[in-house]
Amino acid sequence: MNYKGRQRRLRSTLFLHRLDTLLLTHLPNVRYLCGFTGSAGVLLLTQGKSVFFTDGRYTTQARSEVHASETVIASKGPLAVAAEWLASRARSGRRKSAPVRLAIEGEYLTVSARTRLARSLPSGFRLIEAPPLVEKARMEKDQDEVKRIRAAVALGASLFDCALKVIRPGVREIEVAAEMEYAARNAGAQGMSFPTIIASGRRSALPHGRASDAPIPTRGFVVCDFGVILDGYCSDRTRTVHVGRASTEAHKAYQAVLQAQQAAIVAVKPGVGVAEIDQAARNLLQKHGLAKYFTHSTGHGVGLEIHEAPRVAAGQSEILQPGMVITIEPGVYLPGRWGVRIEDVVVVTEQGCEALTPTRKELIAI
Ligand code: ZN
Ligand code: ZN
Repeated sequence: MNYKGRQRRLRSTLFLHRLDTLLLTHLPNVRYLCGFTGSAGVLLLTQGKSVFFTDGRYTTQARSEVHASETVIASKGPLAVAAEWLASRARSGRRKSAPVRLAIEGEYLTVSARTRLARSLPSGFRLIEAPPLVEKARMEKDQDEVKRIRAAVALGASLFDCALKVIRPGVREIEVAAEMEYAARNAGAQGMSFPTIIASGRRSALPHGRASDAPIPTRGFVVCDFGVILDGYCSDRTRTVHVGRASTEAHKAYQAVLQAQQAAIVAVKPGVGVAEIDQAARNLLQKHGLAKYFTHSTGHGVGLEIHEAPRVAAGQSEILQPGMVITIEPGVYLPGRWGVRIEDVVVVTEQGCEALTPTRKELIAI
Protein backbone atom coordinates (compact mmCIF):
# COMPACT_ATOMS: atom_id res chain seq x y z
CA MET A 1 0.00 0.00 0.00
CA ASN A 2 1.34 3.41 -0.94
CA TYR A 3 0.79 5.29 2.34
CA LYS A 4 3.13 8.12 1.39
CA GLY A 5 1.19 8.76 -1.82
CA ARG A 6 -2.12 8.70 0.06
CA GLN A 7 -0.84 11.20 2.61
CA ARG A 8 0.57 13.44 -0.10
CA ARG A 9 -2.75 13.55 -1.95
CA LEU A 10 -4.63 14.25 1.27
CA ARG A 11 -2.27 17.10 2.15
CA SER A 12 -3.06 18.85 -1.11
CA THR A 13 -6.79 18.43 -0.38
CA LEU A 14 -6.27 19.89 3.10
CA PHE A 15 -4.51 22.83 1.54
CA LEU A 16 -7.40 23.38 -0.87
CA HIS A 17 -9.81 23.39 2.07
CA ARG A 18 -7.60 25.86 3.99
CA LEU A 19 -7.04 23.33 6.78
CA ASP A 20 -3.70 23.22 8.61
CA THR A 21 -3.90 19.91 10.41
CA LEU A 22 -6.20 16.92 10.25
CA LEU A 23 -6.86 14.84 13.35
CA LEU A 24 -8.00 11.37 12.34
CA THR A 25 -9.90 9.33 14.89
CA HIS A 26 -11.89 7.01 12.63
CA LEU A 27 -9.82 3.81 12.62
CA PRO A 28 -10.47 2.76 9.00
CA ASN A 29 -9.24 6.22 7.92
CA VAL A 30 -6.20 5.90 10.18
CA ARG A 31 -5.50 2.50 8.69
CA TYR A 32 -5.90 3.81 5.15
CA LEU A 33 -3.31 6.51 5.76
CA CYS A 34 -0.69 4.72 7.83
CA GLY A 35 -1.46 1.00 7.94
CA PHE A 36 -2.30 0.55 11.63
CA THR A 37 -4.88 -2.21 12.17
CA GLY A 38 -5.33 -2.06 15.95
CA SER A 39 -8.27 -0.72 17.92
CA ALA A 40 -6.78 2.39 19.57
CA GLY A 41 -4.92 5.13 17.81
CA VAL A 42 -5.20 8.56 16.26
CA LEU A 43 -3.26 10.12 13.43
CA LEU A 44 -2.28 13.75 13.07
CA LEU A 45 -1.53 14.93 9.60
CA THR A 46 0.05 18.34 9.28
CA GLN A 47 1.46 19.85 6.11
CA GLY A 48 4.92 18.68 7.08
CA LYS A 49 4.41 15.68 9.34
CA SER A 50 2.37 12.60 10.04
CA VAL A 51 2.31 11.45 13.68
CA PHE A 52 0.53 8.36 14.94
CA PHE A 53 -0.45 8.07 18.63
CA THR A 54 -1.35 4.79 20.28
CA ASP A 55 -1.01 3.15 23.69
CA GLY A 56 1.42 0.65 25.19
CA ARG A 57 -0.59 -2.39 24.08
CA TYR A 58 0.35 -1.60 20.51
CA THR A 59 4.06 -0.84 20.81
CA THR A 60 5.17 -3.89 18.84
CA GLN A 61 2.28 -3.86 16.40
CA ALA A 62 2.71 -0.17 15.61
CA ARG A 63 6.40 -0.71 14.93
CA SER A 64 5.65 -3.33 12.30
CA GLU A 65 2.50 -1.84 10.79
CA VAL A 66 2.73 1.95 10.82
CA HIS A 67 4.19 3.50 7.69
CA ALA A 68 5.15 7.01 6.59
CA SER A 69 4.48 8.32 10.12
CA GLU A 70 6.31 8.94 13.36
CA THR A 71 4.85 6.85 16.23
CA VAL A 72 4.24 8.12 19.74
CA ILE A 73 3.35 5.55 22.42
CA ALA A 74 1.08 7.37 24.85
CA SER A 75 0.89 6.57 28.56
CA LYS A 76 -2.70 7.84 28.59
CA GLY A 77 -5.39 8.21 25.93
CA PRO A 78 -3.93 8.73 22.44
CA LEU A 79 -6.28 11.65 21.82
CA ALA A 80 -5.12 13.49 24.97
CA VAL A 81 -1.49 12.94 24.02
CA ALA A 82 -2.12 14.14 20.48
CA ALA A 83 -3.60 17.34 21.95
CA GLU A 84 -0.52 17.77 24.19
CA TRP A 85 1.72 17.25 21.19
CA LEU A 86 -0.11 19.97 19.27
CA ALA A 87 0.01 22.31 22.26
CA SER A 88 3.75 21.86 22.81
CA ARG A 89 4.41 22.31 19.13
CA ALA A 90 2.41 25.54 19.16
CA ARG A 91 4.45 26.80 22.16
CA SER A 92 7.77 26.04 20.52
CA GLY A 93 6.81 27.24 17.04
CA ARG A 94 6.82 30.74 15.67
CA ARG A 95 3.85 32.76 16.79
CA LYS A 96 1.28 32.73 14.08
CA SER A 97 -1.17 35.54 13.80
CA ALA A 98 -3.87 33.37 12.23
CA PRO A 99 -5.38 30.55 14.30
CA VAL A 100 -4.41 26.97 13.48
CA ARG A 101 -7.32 25.39 11.67
CA LEU A 102 -7.48 21.91 13.18
CA ALA A 103 -9.86 19.65 11.30
CA ILE A 104 -11.66 16.90 13.18
CA GLU A 105 -13.86 14.07 11.98
CA GLY A 106 -17.20 15.24 13.32
CA GLU A 107 -18.94 12.02 12.32
CA TYR A 108 -16.67 9.98 14.54
CA LEU A 109 -15.58 12.15 17.46
CA THR A 110 -17.96 12.02 20.42
CA VAL A 111 -19.23 15.27 21.88
CA SER A 112 -17.32 14.67 25.13
CA ALA A 113 -14.07 13.85 23.29
CA ARG A 114 -14.45 17.05 21.31
CA THR A 115 -15.00 19.04 24.51
CA ARG A 116 -11.91 17.49 26.16
CA LEU A 117 -9.89 18.20 23.05
CA ALA A 118 -11.01 21.84 22.91
CA ARG A 119 -10.15 22.27 26.62
CA SER A 120 -6.68 20.82 26.31
CA LEU A 121 -5.63 22.93 23.33
CA PRO A 122 -4.18 26.40 23.93
CA SER A 123 -5.85 29.42 22.42
CA GLY A 124 -4.89 29.84 18.80
CA PHE A 125 -6.53 26.60 17.68
CA ARG A 126 -9.82 26.51 15.87
CA LEU A 127 -11.63 23.19 15.67
CA ILE A 128 -13.28 22.71 12.33
CA GLU A 129 -15.44 19.82 11.26
CA ALA A 130 -13.67 18.38 8.24
CA PRO A 131 -15.58 17.37 5.13
CA PRO A 132 -15.26 13.61 4.43
CA LEU A 133 -11.88 13.99 2.71
CA VAL A 134 -10.47 10.56 3.51
CA GLU A 135 -13.79 8.88 2.72
CA LYS A 136 -13.68 10.52 -0.71
CA ALA A 137 -10.09 9.43 -1.27
CA ARG A 138 -11.00 5.89 -0.24
CA MET A 139 -13.73 5.62 -2.89
CA GLU A 140 -11.25 4.99 -5.70
CA LYS A 141 -9.37 1.83 -4.88
CA ASP A 142 -5.83 1.21 -6.06
CA GLN A 143 -4.69 -2.10 -7.55
CA ASP A 144 -3.59 -3.53 -4.21
CA GLU A 145 -6.99 -2.81 -2.74
CA VAL A 146 -8.92 -4.27 -5.68
CA LYS A 147 -6.78 -7.39 -5.38
CA ARG A 148 -7.69 -7.77 -1.72
CA ILE A 149 -11.37 -7.11 -2.33
CA ARG A 150 -11.33 -9.65 -5.14
CA ALA A 151 -9.89 -12.25 -2.75
CA ALA A 152 -12.43 -11.37 -0.04
CA VAL A 153 -15.30 -11.60 -2.53
CA ALA A 154 -14.08 -14.99 -3.79
CA LEU A 155 -13.90 -16.36 -0.26
CA GLY A 156 -17.28 -14.84 0.60
CA ALA A 157 -18.86 -16.29 -2.53
CA SER A 158 -17.73 -19.80 -1.62
CA LEU A 159 -19.83 -19.64 1.54
CA PHE A 160 -23.02 -19.75 -0.48
CA ASP A 161 -22.26 -23.36 -1.46
CA CYS A 162 -21.97 -24.04 2.20
CA ALA A 163 -25.38 -22.47 2.85
CA LEU A 164 -26.97 -24.53 0.08
CA LYS A 165 -25.83 -27.72 1.78
CA VAL A 166 -27.64 -26.88 5.01
CA ILE A 167 -30.75 -24.92 4.01
CA ARG A 168 -33.64 -27.31 4.57
CA PRO A 169 -37.09 -26.95 6.12
CA GLY A 170 -36.81 -27.17 9.90
CA VAL A 171 -33.15 -26.11 10.09
CA ARG A 172 -32.82 -22.92 12.13
CA GLU A 173 -31.57 -19.83 10.32
CA ILE A 174 -28.82 -19.44 12.88
CA GLU A 175 -27.49 -22.93 12.08
CA VAL A 176 -27.10 -21.91 8.44
CA ALA A 177 -25.23 -18.78 9.53
CA ALA A 178 -23.08 -20.83 11.90
CA GLU A 179 -22.00 -23.22 9.14
CA MET A 180 -21.11 -20.33 6.87
CA GLU A 181 -19.21 -18.46 9.54
CA TYR A 182 -17.29 -21.56 10.61
CA ALA A 183 -16.30 -22.20 7.00
CA ALA A 184 -15.28 -18.55 6.60
CA ARG A 185 -12.90 -18.66 9.55
CA ASN A 186 -11.50 -21.98 8.46
CA ALA A 187 -10.77 -20.51 5.06
CA GLY A 188 -8.79 -17.68 6.64
CA ALA A 189 -11.34 -14.87 7.06
CA GLN A 190 -10.58 -12.44 9.88
CA GLY A 191 -14.28 -12.28 10.60
CA MET A 192 -17.61 -11.58 8.99
CA SER A 193 -18.04 -8.10 7.58
CA PHE A 194 -21.48 -7.85 9.28
CA PRO A 195 -23.84 -10.19 11.15
CA THR A 196 -24.95 -12.79 8.63
CA ILE A 197 -28.47 -12.35 7.32
CA ILE A 198 -30.47 -15.52 6.85
CA ALA A 199 -34.11 -14.50 6.58
CA SER A 200 -36.57 -17.21 5.65
CA GLY A 201 -40.28 -17.33 4.87
CA ARG A 202 -42.05 -14.22 6.17
CA ARG A 203 -38.80 -12.96 7.67
CA SER A 204 -37.39 -12.61 4.15
CA ALA A 205 -39.50 -9.43 3.93
CA LEU A 206 -37.16 -7.88 6.52
CA PRO A 207 -34.37 -6.30 4.47
CA HIS A 208 -31.97 -6.76 7.39
CA GLY A 209 -33.32 -9.96 8.92
CA ARG A 210 -30.35 -11.23 10.88
CA ALA A 211 -30.26 -14.99 11.27
CA SER A 212 -32.64 -15.89 14.10
CA ASP A 213 -33.55 -19.17 15.79
CA ALA A 214 -36.60 -19.44 13.55
CA PRO A 215 -36.78 -22.73 11.64
CA ILE A 216 -36.81 -22.50 7.86
CA PRO A 217 -40.39 -23.12 6.73
CA THR A 218 -41.38 -25.80 4.22
CA ARG A 219 -42.07 -23.24 1.53
CA GLY A 220 -40.80 -19.77 0.84
CA PHE A 221 -37.83 -17.58 0.05
CA VAL A 222 -34.61 -17.57 2.05
CA VAL A 223 -32.52 -14.39 1.72
CA CYS A 224 -28.84 -15.00 2.48
CA ASP A 225 -26.72 -11.84 2.76
CA PHE A 226 -23.19 -12.36 3.99
CA GLY A 227 -19.64 -11.18 3.72
CA VAL A 228 -16.16 -11.72 5.12
CA ILE A 229 -13.19 -9.59 6.02
CA LEU A 230 -9.96 -10.79 4.47
CA ASP A 231 -6.71 -8.83 4.73
CA GLY A 232 -8.76 -5.93 6.09
CA TYR A 233 -11.14 -5.74 3.13
CA CYS A 234 -14.82 -6.63 3.10
CA SER A 235 -16.99 -8.67 0.79
CA ASP A 236 -20.76 -8.49 0.47
CA ARG A 237 -23.13 -10.73 -1.42
CA THR A 238 -26.78 -11.69 -1.34
CA ARG A 239 -28.48 -14.68 -2.87
CA THR A 240 -32.12 -15.61 -2.46
CA VAL A 241 -33.22 -19.21 -2.81
CA HIS A 242 -36.64 -20.77 -2.59
CA VAL A 243 -37.57 -23.74 -0.44
CA GLY A 244 -40.32 -25.80 -2.04
CA ARG A 245 -42.06 -24.82 -5.25
CA ALA A 246 -42.18 -21.08 -5.93
CA SER A 247 -45.57 -19.59 -6.80
CA THR A 248 -45.88 -17.82 -10.17
CA GLU A 249 -45.98 -14.50 -8.32
CA ALA A 250 -42.80 -15.28 -6.37
CA HIS A 251 -41.08 -16.47 -9.52
CA LYS A 252 -42.01 -13.30 -11.37
CA ALA A 253 -40.79 -11.11 -8.53
CA TYR A 254 -37.47 -12.95 -8.47
CA GLN A 255 -37.05 -12.45 -12.23
CA ALA A 256 -37.90 -8.76 -11.87
CA VAL A 257 -35.26 -8.27 -9.16
CA LEU A 258 -32.71 -10.14 -11.26
CA GLN A 259 -33.48 -7.99 -14.30
CA ALA A 260 -33.28 -4.85 -12.16
CA GLN A 261 -29.88 -5.92 -10.90
CA GLN A 262 -28.65 -6.66 -14.40
CA ALA A 263 -29.96 -3.31 -15.70
CA ALA A 264 -28.10 -1.49 -12.94
CA ILE A 265 -24.88 -3.46 -13.53
CA VAL A 266 -25.02 -2.71 -17.27
CA ALA A 267 -25.38 1.00 -16.43
CA VAL A 268 -22.21 1.08 -14.30
CA LYS A 269 -19.42 2.91 -16.11
CA PRO A 270 -17.12 5.85 -15.49
CA GLY A 271 -18.83 9.22 -15.77
CA VAL A 272 -22.27 7.97 -14.79
CA GLY A 273 -23.85 9.36 -11.63
CA VAL A 274 -24.70 6.93 -8.83
CA ALA A 275 -28.28 8.24 -8.82
CA GLU A 276 -28.64 7.03 -12.42
CA ILE A 277 -27.58 3.53 -11.39
CA ASP A 278 -30.20 3.57 -8.68
CA GLN A 279 -32.78 4.79 -11.17
CA ALA A 280 -31.89 2.03 -13.66
CA ALA A 281 -32.80 -0.62 -11.07
CA ARG A 282 -35.92 1.24 -9.98
CA ASN A 283 -37.18 1.72 -13.57
CA LEU A 284 -37.05 -1.99 -14.16
CA LEU A 285 -39.00 -2.76 -11.01
CA GLN A 286 -41.48 -0.04 -11.93
CA LYS A 287 -42.30 -1.95 -15.12
CA HIS A 288 -43.29 -4.91 -12.98
CA GLY A 289 -45.27 -2.76 -10.54
CA LEU A 290 -42.80 -3.59 -7.78
CA ALA A 291 -40.91 -0.30 -7.36
CA LYS A 292 -42.85 0.62 -4.23
CA TYR A 293 -41.55 -2.52 -2.54
CA PHE A 294 -37.93 -1.58 -3.21
CA THR A 295 -37.42 0.28 0.03
CA HIS A 296 -33.66 0.81 0.23
CA SER A 297 -30.95 2.20 -1.99
CA THR A 298 -29.38 0.19 -4.81
CA GLY A 299 -25.92 -0.14 -3.33
CA HIS A 300 -22.92 1.20 -1.49
CA GLY A 301 -19.17 1.35 -1.65
CA VAL A 302 -17.22 -1.56 -0.12
CA GLY A 303 -13.62 -1.58 1.06
CA LEU A 304 -12.06 -1.31 4.50
CA GLU A 305 -15.65 -0.91 5.70
CA ILE A 306 -18.71 -2.82 4.65
CA HIS A 307 -20.65 0.38 3.99
CA GLU A 308 -18.60 3.24 2.66
CA ALA A 309 -18.86 5.97 0.07
CA PRO A 310 -20.36 6.30 -2.44
CA ARG A 311 -23.99 5.57 -1.65
CA VAL A 312 -25.68 4.33 -4.79
CA ALA A 313 -28.95 6.11 -4.15
CA ALA A 314 -31.35 8.75 -5.40
CA GLY A 315 -30.25 12.27 -4.54
CA GLN A 316 -26.54 11.40 -4.40
CA SER A 317 -24.27 13.38 -6.69
CA GLU A 318 -21.18 11.17 -6.83
CA ILE A 319 -19.94 10.27 -10.32
CA LEU A 320 -18.50 6.80 -10.91
CA GLN A 321 -14.76 6.63 -11.58
CA PRO A 322 -12.51 3.69 -12.46
CA GLY A 323 -11.43 1.88 -9.31
CA MET A 324 -14.64 2.46 -7.39
CA VAL A 325 -16.03 -0.72 -5.86
CA ILE A 326 -19.76 -0.78 -5.22
CA THR A 327 -22.53 -3.25 -4.57
CA ILE A 328 -25.62 -3.56 -6.73
CA GLU A 329 -28.39 -4.98 -4.60
CA PRO A 330 -31.97 -4.28 -5.54
CA GLY A 331 -34.66 -6.09 -3.59
CA VAL A 332 -38.41 -6.19 -3.13
CA TYR A 333 -40.10 -6.79 0.21
CA LEU A 334 -43.78 -7.50 0.70
CA PRO A 335 -44.33 -6.96 4.42
CA GLY A 336 -45.56 -10.06 6.24
CA ARG A 337 -45.20 -12.17 3.10
CA TRP A 338 -41.79 -12.46 1.49
CA GLY A 339 -38.78 -10.67 0.12
CA VAL A 340 -36.08 -11.12 -2.53
CA ARG A 341 -32.68 -9.48 -2.89
CA ILE A 342 -29.75 -10.18 -5.20
CA GLU A 343 -26.41 -8.50 -4.57
CA ASP A 344 -23.00 -8.52 -6.17
CA VAL A 345 -19.87 -6.43 -5.82
CA VAL A 346 -18.66 -4.72 -8.99
CA VAL A 347 -15.52 -2.75 -9.71
CA VAL A 348 -15.73 0.20 -12.10
CA THR A 349 -13.27 -0.27 -14.98
CA GLU A 350 -12.13 2.13 -17.73
CA GLN A 351 -14.97 1.00 -20.02
CA GLY A 352 -17.68 -0.27 -17.73
CA CYS A 353 -17.53 -2.59 -14.80
CA GLU A 354 -16.57 -6.08 -13.78
CA ALA A 355 -18.78 -8.13 -11.49
CA LEU A 356 -16.43 -9.78 -9.02
CA THR A 357 -18.75 -12.75 -8.53
CA PRO A 358 -19.96 -13.74 -11.99
CA THR A 359 -21.90 -16.74 -10.77
CA ARG A 360 -25.25 -18.01 -11.88
CA LYS A 361 -28.25 -16.26 -10.46
CA GLU A 362 -31.26 -18.24 -11.68
CA LEU A 363 -33.66 -19.01 -8.88
CA ILE A 364 -32.47 -22.07 -6.99
CA ALA A 365 -35.22 -24.24 -5.60
CA ILE A 366 -34.38 -26.43 -2.63
ZN1 ZN B 1 -25.16 -7.44 1.61
ZN1 ZN C 1 -24.59 -4.55 0.68
